[in-house]
Amino acid sequence: MKKKQDTLIVTAGRDPEANFGILNPPVYHASTILYPTLDAVRTRKQPFTYGRRGTPTTAALQEAIAELEGGYRTLLTPSGLSAVTAALLAHLKTGDHLLMTDSAYEPSRHFCERVLKRYGVDVEYYNPCLGSDIAALIKPNTAVVFTESPGSVTFEVQDIPAISKAAHKAGAIVMIDNTWASPLYFKPFEHGVDVSIQAVTKYLCGHSDVMMGAITTTEAAWRDTVASHGANGLCAGPDDVYLVLRGIRTLSVRLARHMETGLKLARWLAARPEVARVIHPALPSHPGHALWKRDFTGASGLFSIELKPASEAALAAMLDGLELFGMGYSWGGFESLIIPQDPAKIRTATKWEAQGPMLRLHAGLEDPDDLIADLDAGFERLRACNE
Ligand SMILES: *Cc1c(COP(=O)(O)O)cnc(C)c1O
Repeated sequence: MKKKQDTLIVTAGRDPEANFGILNPPVYHASTILYPTLDAVRTRKQPFTYGRRGTPTTAALQEAIAELEGGYRTLLTPSGLSAVTAALLAHLKTGDHLLMTDSAYEPSRHFCERVLKRYGVDVEYYNPCLGSDIAALIKPNTAVVFTESPGSVTFEVQDIPAISKAAHKAGAIVMIDNTWASPLYFKPFEHGVDVSIQAVTKYLCGHSDVMMGAITTTEAAWRDTVASHGANGLCAGPDDVYLVLRGIRTLSVRLARHMETGLKLARWLAARPEVARVIHPALPSHPGHALWKRDFTGASGLFSIELKPASEAALAAMLDGLELFGMGYSWGGFESLIIPQDPAKIRTATKWEAQGPMLRLHAGLEDPDDLIADLDAGFERLRACNE
C-alpha cells in the first residue's frame, strides 16, 4: 500500500514481528557484535558488524527518516551541526568551490570559515534570494551549492528547483538544511536536492532533550556520503535514537499545532505598535510567500520579528519578565522560546537592515491565548521602560 504521510509517521522503521510483537524497536547497546564463523569475519556480510556502524535501533530511525524525507538512505550524526559538517566534508575537497547561502545557520558558516577554508575550499556566500541567476556564480570547480530554506533567523525562502537545475547543469550537487520545515512540510528530493540535512535535535526529537543530526541522500550521492561519514567515525547513541523514534510518532500532530499557534502569534504581533515587521513565510506580507506556497505544505512554529527601536533596558524589561517564553537556543520542543538575534553582524553577501532589535520566536504547544497574554504584558513593560 502506498501510505499517506500521517500513516508513514506511525509505521516507518517499525517491525514488531521481528521483536516478539513489541511495538517499539528495542534499544540495542552495542560496541562488539559477534561473527559466527571465520568466513563471516572475512566477508562481513551480516547486517550489523560493529556498534559504531549501526544497530537495529539506529537502522529503525534511519529507515524512518529516509522514508519521511523521500530519499534513498539516511545516516545519523551526534548533532545537527555535525550532519551539516559531515555532508560538506563528504562532497568537498581541496580546490573545490562551495556556494553557501548567506542566510545559513551561523555555526554552519563558522565551519566553512574555520575548517573548510583551512583545507583549501573556496567558500563563497551568495544571496539566498537568487533563483536561476545563481548560474552566474557557478564555476567549473563548484562542487556543492548549500541551501537552507527558509534561512535561519531571517527566513528567506529559496527557489530550490531553480537552484538545483542550475547546479546540476554544471555538475554540482545541492544540499539543503531542511530543519525548519522538517521532512513533513518540505520534500527535498521532489525539488531536486541531492543531500538533505535535519537537525534532529529540533522537531524530530521534539522534546528538547536530545542532540542529533541526520543526512539523507539520493542513491547517487550515497556512496561518497556513507564512506566519509564512516571514515569520520560518526554515530548516535542508542538511548537518544530511541527517544527520537518515540518523538517522531507525534510529529504530525505536534507540527500542526506549532504552525497554528505560530501563525496566531505572528498575526497578533503584526498588529502591535511595538513591532516593525513580522518575518514569517506563511504570512502573505512575506517576500518569499509565493515560493513557500508553491513548494511547502506547511510552516513550523519558528519565525522572527523586528521591533521598532528600543533601548537595551526596555528589551530586558520585556524579555526578563516573560513567564511562558523561555530565553534559550535551539527550538522544536514543546515549549515556547524567544531569543534576540543580530543577523546583520554575520552577513557578507547581502546586507541585513533592521530599525530595532530582532527577536526569534518559537511557538510551543501551550495555549496560544496564554502566550499572547505573556507577550502583551512584555510589551507593556517594554513601553513603560522605553518612554
Ligand atoms: C539547530 C540547527 C542546527 C544544528 O543542530 P544542533 O543539533 O544544535 O547541532 C543546524 N541547522 C539549523 C537550521 C538549526 O536550526
